[in-house]
Amino acid sequence: MRIAVFSAKPYDVTFLERANLTHQHELRFFDSRLGPDTTALARGFDAVCVFVNDCVNAEVLDALARDGIRLIALRCAGFNNVDLDAAATLGLTVVRVPAYSPHAVAGHTLALVMSLNRHIHRAYARVREGNFALDGLIGFDLAGRTAGVVGTGRIGAIVAHLLRGFGCRVLAHDVAPNPLCEAEDVEYVPLDDLLRESDVVTLHCPLMPSTYHLIDAAALATMKPGVMLINTSRGALVDAVAAIEALKSGRLGALGLDVYEEEADMFFEDLSNRVLKDDVFARLLTFPNVLITGHQAFFTADALTAIAETTLENISAFARGDALPNAIGRQA
Ligand code: NAD
Repeated sequence: MRIAVFSAKPYDVTFLERANLTHQHELRFFDSRLGPDTTALARGFDAVCVFVNDCVNAEVLDALARDGIRLIALRCAGFNNVDLDAAATLGLTVVRVPAYSPHAVAGHTLALVMSLNRHIHRAYARVREGNFALDGLIGFDLAGRTAGVVGTGRIGAIVAHLLRGFGCRVLAHDVAPNPLCEAEDVEYVPLDDLLRESDVVTLHCPLMPSTYHLIDAAALATMKPGVMLINTSRGALVDAVAAIEALKSGRLGALGLDVYEEEADMFFEDLSNRVLKDDVFARLLTFPNVLITGHQAFFTADALTAIAETTLENISAFARGDALPNAIGRQA
């Protein structure tokens, strides 16, 4: 098949071309994001391959369908950027990579927890400046603390397992408890209880209308003073303006983000020569107890290999007319 690959970075080219040796599709890489202004690039192709910040709304899907696109191949797990109803109405098939390396995201989550707890980001800068003072770098033992995991699917379950390994009491909240977690003495509780009792709260549920701003001013007000909040799921789970107020009051003791609600115009690009226009993001960067990474939790060689292989296998299965276990939406 002829595939237009959007938001293609050098690492996407490397891993997709390597995986394509066994599939032999015609791949054309575009640095541009897919959106209403760039759909014309997909003309003449059979499928588009997109990532988390490509815009795949009804308008874009309509233009793609008119240009003969038949398949939307997501090279990610989350699909909140795709209008699945519009895709189904237009007869477009949507496939994704449901699991590539939950260990990658879980490991990064714990990296944020431990870096914030032990102030590694500040210690790194201090030591390079010849400042070996320890003031301000006091951490806490995770052992014996209570950690709350919101969403115990593929990633959340591994995070819960790792936190148990650190000796934490682990509380969890999910619409459907995971037997793997229950077997490890993870205690399922209502969200209110989890927020009230946890020293560390980490988010691993998907972004949906019901989880939009799950952590807002009201939720933050119920959390333990000095709580650490980690979000490696999707930015809009957290109301960043409310988080800033909670950081200022001390209610939030530490905030670790790999995702940000307005990340689409910033993340994955080198903007170091430009003025940062997002005042909320800029304010977040001023706090010593905030650590932000640019949506890199998935970014391991293992995950990139798995993403590329599953994406191309999804496309090949579609081309052969086989069943599509990774299809989503009404066409699934
Ligand atoms: P998953 O589908 O395996 O698990 C999600 C879990 O959330 C499920 O157990 C589900 O029942 C639960 N859930 C749904 N609604 C909920 C609610 N209202 N409250 C609590 N739990 C709820 O997904 P996953 O593979 O573990 O991924 C989790 C999220 O991580 C994805 O939605 C994606 O947005 C994000 N993600 C981020 C990165 C990154 O690089 N930062 C990479 C991959 C995935």
